[in-house]
Amino acid sequence: MICPFCRHDDSRVVDSRPVVDGTEIRRRRECPKCGQRFSTQEVALLNIIKRSGATEPFSREKVLVGVRKACQGRPVDEDDLVLLAQRVEETLRSTGQAEIEAQEVGLAILAPLRELDEVAYLRYASVYRNFASLEDFEGEIALLRALPSNAHQVTPERSAVKPVMSTSNQKTGK
Ligand SMILES: [Zn+2]
Repeated sequence: MICPFCRHDDSRVVDSRPVVDGTEIRRRRECPKCGQRFSTQEVALLNIIKRSGATEPFSREKVLVGVRKACQGRPVDEDDLVLLAQRVEETLRSTGQAEIEAQEVGLAILAPLRELDEVAYLRYASVYRNFASLEDFEGEIALLRALPSNAHQVTPERSAVKPVMSTSNQKTGK
């Protein structure tokens, strides 16, 4: 690691400690040339597998762009969105996987977005899950009414949701 003070091309690790539930490591380094100390932070790479099969690094900014659009005109402020994107990243990292399908990112967004604003959630879900008819909206609204928001995360209805997604994939000619 190059010293950020004098650009010397080597540095020595003087301390190493895990932070944030062990998903990050922070290292204290010292430059043998100028003696300055600095810190580095190490996180596992998290790659997103896109529908095309290509991978790209996870980007909180991309999550933000998607939810910001869904939240237009809703009583949601930028801080809420930043927090949501952070939660999404934590959820994905907590799976311990190095590569995650883009679909999973969408799913990880749905639950916290629903807690934030149900209208934004519906907008997002309609795009993300390719709602094609009024019935799709009615079905989702019925689910929203029937289930308390924290029940929407992982269990039973998650599996009920998947077939809908595969049907929409067929519709788009995949
Ligand atoms: Zn130096």
